[in-house]
Amino acid sequence: MGTTLSYILFGFSLITFMMGVQEFLRKSSQKRVKYYYIATEMSSSIWSFCFGLIIVQTSSDTAALLRSIGMAGIFCFLASVVSLMMYWSNIHGKTAFCIRCFLLLAIPLYPFTISPSIATFERIPFGMSYELTPGLWNTFYTFYTLSIALIMIVLIIVMAKRSRKRDHVTAYGVLTCEIIILLGMILDTILPQFGYKALPGTAIAQFFGALLLGIIYHGYVKSQVTLENMSNFIYYSVNEPILIYDEMQRLKIVNNSAAEFFGDSVHEDTDTPLHEIFDVDEHILEMRGKHIGIEATCLCNQSYCMLGIDRITDFYGDTQGFIIVISDMTEKLAAIGALKLACQKADEANEAKSRFLANISHEIRTPINAVLGMDEIILREAQSQDIKNYAANIQSAGKTLLSIINDILDFSKIESGMMEIIEGDYLIGTVLADLASHISLRAQKKGLKLITEFDPNIPSVLYGDEVRIRQIILNILTNAVKYTETGAIQFHASCTEQSENQVMLDIFIKDTGIGIRKENIPLLFQSFHRVDEKSVHNIEGTGLGLSIVQRLLKLMNGTIEVKSLYGIGSIFYIHIPQKIVNHQPLGSLENSLPVMPKEYKASFEAPDAKILVVDDYKLNLQVIEGLLKQTKVQLTLISSGKECLQKIQHETYDLIFLDHMMPELDGIETLHQMQNMPENRNQNTPVIVLTANAIAGAKEMYLKEGFQDYLSKPIDSRLLEELVKKYLPDEKIYKV
Ligand code: ADP
Repeated sequence: MGTTLSYILFGFSLITFMMGVQEFLRKSSQKRVKYYYIATEMSSSIWSFCFGLIIVQTSSDTAALLRSIGMAGIFCFLASVVSLMMYWSNIHGKTAFCIRCFLLLAIPLYPFTISPSIATFERIPFGMSYELTPGLWNTFYTFYTLSIALIMIVLIIVMAKRSRKRDHVTAYGVLTCEIIILLGMILDTILPQFGYKALPGTAIAQFFGALLLGIIYHGYVKSQVTLENMSNFIYYSVNEPILIYDEMQRLKIVNNSAAEFFGDSVHEDTDTPLHEIFDVDEHILEMRGKHIGIEATCLCNQSYCMLGIDRITDFYGDTQGFIIVISDMTEKLAAIGALKLACQKADEANEAKSRFLANISHEIRTPINAVLGMDEIILREAQSQDIKNYAANIQSAGKTLLSIINDILDFSKIESGMMEIIEGDYLIGTVLADLASHISLRAQKKGLKLITEFDPNIPSVLYGDEVRIRQIILNILTNAVKYTETGAIQFHASCTEQSENQVMLDIFIKDTGIGIRKENIPLLFQSFHRVDEKSVHNIEGTGLGLSIVQRLLKLMNGTIEVKSLYGIGSIFYIHIPQKIVNHQPLGSLENSLPVMPKEYKASFEAPDAKILVVDDYKLNLQVIEGLLKQTKVQLTLISSGKECLQKIQHETYDLIFLDHMMPELDGIETLHQMQNMPENRNQNTPVIVLTANAIAGAKEMYLKEGFQDYLSKPIDSRLLEELVKKYLPDEKIYKV
């Protein structure tokens, strides 16, 4: 029986020894607590070993020696358990110092507890045993061990009082451990005090205590966030599903988010290969690089995922494992799909809007052509001044209507990115003078004074888009007149030289009109937005002008600024960089402002010239006839493509005007057939398209189809005459 117990204790000793060694070999950044724990397990091992050996001894001297070593183990065990508990209960400062001093009392006490007089050894049937001789040192020893038990209870209470759950678990664990040891102590410490033979009860109990401490210790370490286990906490707590494979491609970690994502189908510490979880190549983890990102469908839940696979390597570059971060793209893809659909719908709606704008303006331009054209003829031919006045009013209203349609067209051109800046040489003096004379008429009508200030040093010939520059300045000038009831309009133009070949054209237009509220200034350039609706509702406008001006300026790298005082007036500053073609200064424009011709007079006559005009809208034919009347050209007016194809076989013309939109055979088809007809006697005759289609890119399209030039409706009588003059043979033109 004694021998068996001796073996059992020897086994206990070995187990606690191994536990100590194992902890010693484990890497840990928590050095202090680690060494307390190792000391606990090692001293427990010595304790079990020595007291186990005592039982099988025959010589009391050897038994006494073994007891002496065992006692050292006991003191060390008590000291290291208390230190461990102090660490766990976070005791510092003076209290910790006092406890440590008390633990050190073991050193002076130790020699007395091993003195030969303190214990008498005797063999009993069970094996070697000893009896403690009652005396001062024994009482001290008992007092010491009971005090330590008391300190432990206090430390347990401190731990239990803390709010963390793991402190509570540790406290109850240590309490259980202490109770076990106290029970064991009855056999070899308490009973021998009363003269009973000592049995190694504490040696057995302390082993279970040490085992329990091991469990508590490892539980504590595991739940503590340290450098070593930080990665575990990260893997488990991140929201993204993560799988970790080891170097043998065994699934080691499935974080919480991944467990939720895969449901019950994927588990930690299994051999489930990646290609059984996702539709990926079965050799995917044999990757060479450190990272790959692939798209794959999850075989467990059919989600469409993005996998980020990182190969973890050691110092030597050998693979240690793989981290697979999974991004579920299903919802994102659905959102992207929905966004794409919404974009497509918005694009379609925008296109439909542009088409609608283009169509509506085309439809409106056709009748306006007749109105303005006929009106122009009345203006030219009427004898009565009253009728001329009425016609002038019709012309003014018609032109306003036309400018609104032109704005809408420009807007749709800009929106579709088709607005082009067409640059060329131009005379800035002519532009300024034209604009001034144009606006002076409107200003006069309202009783406004027009003050012009043109810097004579502006270089006379510049390079830029003359048409758009005229449009921009005219828009601001028109607004100034529109929104001013009394006072004056100041039109100022100067320039600042930027480089040898470039000037900044600085223009400002000042009025004494209704002004703009400060808070409305940023809203001025929004499309279709009219600020201060109440005060401007009786003034015609669409709220498009300034928005177009700003966008045109942007295309030319120019800028616009506004300063205004509500009720007092506004100033619009425009700056446009322009290239210099001729440095010669403009000089004074005062006397050269062109006077608008009051009476129309044809610029040439061509009685021998033959012109064919094709348009299905009879009124338009009459307009052209009326507008070209004074030039005396011979006009043949027909109303269909078919008729045109017949006429050209029998007659040679000097010029052909061909409408685009006609029923049956449209202008483009007619032109193509004309070009392919051997009987056509007009192969070399210029054909000019007549069209109300003025949308973005229209002119380019017609030229590409084979027309020589382009004339948009409503027909600008001046432009019509210029075109006729340009394309008729010189010998048929007579100056008037
Ligand atoms: P529209 O004149 O056709 O309404 P604009 O884009 O040219 O459109 O102008 C936008 C708004 O800015 C106008 O409706 C008007 O309220 C304001 N505005 C423009 N110019 C002036 C000005 N010179 N004085 C006062 N208000 C102006």
